Amino acid sequence: MSDPVLLISGAAFTDEERARLEASMPFAFVSGPPDMAALEEGTRKSIRAIAFKGHHALTGAEMDLFPSLGVIANYGVGYDAIDIAAATARGIKVTNTPDVLNDDVADLAVAMLIAQCRNMVAGDALVRSGRWSAGESFPLNRQMSGSTVGIVGLGRIGREIANRLAAFKCEIHYTSRSEKETPGWTYHSSPVEMAKAVDVLVVALVGGKETEGHVSRQVIDALGPRGIVINISRGSTIDEGALLDALEEGRIAGAGLDVFLNEPKVDPRFLKLDNVHLQPHQGSGSVETRRRMAKLQLANIEAFLAGEPLQTPVN
Ligand code: NAP
Repeated sequence: MSDPVLLISGAAFTDEERARLEASMPFAFVSGPPDMAALEEGTRKSIRAIAFKGHHALTGAEMDLFPSLGVIANYGVGYDAIDIAAATARGIKVTNTPDVLNDDVADLAVAMLIAQCRNMVAGDALVRSGRWSAGESFPLNRQMSGSTVGIVGLGRIGREIANRLAAFKCEIHYTSRSEKETPGWTYHSSPVEMAKAVDVLVVALVGGKETEGHVSRQVIDALGPRGIVINISRGSTIDEGALLDALEEGRIAGAGLDVFLNEPKVDPRFLKLDNVHLQPHQGSGSVETRRRMAKLQLANIEAFLAGEPLQTPVN
């Protein structure tokens, strides 16, 4: 067998994804960055591309194990696990899989907001338990259509969320580093000022050091008792302790969360709350979207090896 060109890194790749990568070129496999140093020297020397999936940090130390490495193709739009500065300093290109997942992630954000407003999980439990059939009634809940919503980070996914919520007759506010062209949505330069003006915050920021705790205690405090926080970005973008305090003390109404600070370990304080809706980081997790992401990841690797322009470069 020829020397491996591709390193497939990630225990999380599905069988279908791995089979597609393995059929594409000679490969080696590791579960993640901690296993890279144990690869044989000959294998490490021949690797030119890494197909990466997962949230374990991939740093300059791992990159240095592969002297011929030219591209790291990330599975996912969020590449905060990869040290981009280290890659750039070594002349290594990084790619991601933007846009193809926008619809799914935006759908989940809206679904969590509706589920939270209409108390859908408790409704399901009432029916399943037989208590509804036995005569117990379900408490009235809260209308979602027409809410005043603030999008934190009007990027690709944030815009899809705003478009959907506009169709639900919501009043759209947003905060980003710069004002955008929008169909009349209200721009705020300060997340605190926006939180004062809205009932719902939907967080769609990039992750990483620069946005750590961007939705701060001050922002959460400014939201007020009708406030609902939806997060589909990264757990790091919110001050999770401040969010938990506000939820426990009833200073905001609730939250819908697909991402957590130390996921998949979820702070046990969340599990005791009945004003939160929790999802297992499944924003892009439909069969159709994951297939598009996997194909885009491979297309970037093949483009690099053919000396062609990368489809979705990060650096
Ligand atoms: P994007 O188009 O790059 O948008 C990111 C937003 O973050 C932009 O509004 C940008 O502001 C803002 N931003 C970036 N750096 C910032 C900084 N230093 N301070 C303040 N704001 C900053 O990214 P996207 O494709 O929409 O994806 C957003 C994130 O969603 C991803 O990075 C990923 O973490 C997360 N995600 C989650 C799932 C899931 O399964 N839950 C799936 C896919 C993606 P500007 O508008 O000013 O540039």
